[in-house]
Amino acid sequence: MSFLDKTLTCRECKDLFIWTAGEQQFYKTRALINIPARCPKCRTERKAKLGLPSSAMTEVVCAQCSQATTVPFVPRNGNPVYCSTCLSAVRATVEVTAVTNLAPVASLEVAQSL
Ligand SMILES: [Zn+2]
Ligand SMILES: [Zn+2]
Repeated sequence: MSFLDKTLTCRECKDLFIWTAGEQQFYKTRALINIPARCPKCRTERKAKLGLPSSAMTEVVCAQCSQATTVPFVPRNGNPVYCSTCLSAVRATVEVTAVTNLAPVASLEVAQSL
């Protein structure tokens, strides 16, 4: 499956922006069906209005190896947060065993990183 960069029109400012092949692939892997309606700039502004952190890095301690790491989202209370190394290991395990368990966490990350 290959993707090509697409030019989309921002719903907000009517500017053209590129929806890269990489992003399309990312959407596909996360089973997101809606194409982005806003350019990255408007997305950031919209998130700021909604009170969500834009690209703030949060310092956390990995639940697996106890190393200090930073994540591009604010973890919800009680949810374990992993460093990138452990996260891929955890995800690999979860995908084999129970896909549904991690799904809400994964979609939260997506929502906040857009
Ligand atoms: Zn825009
Ligand atoms: Zn770790």
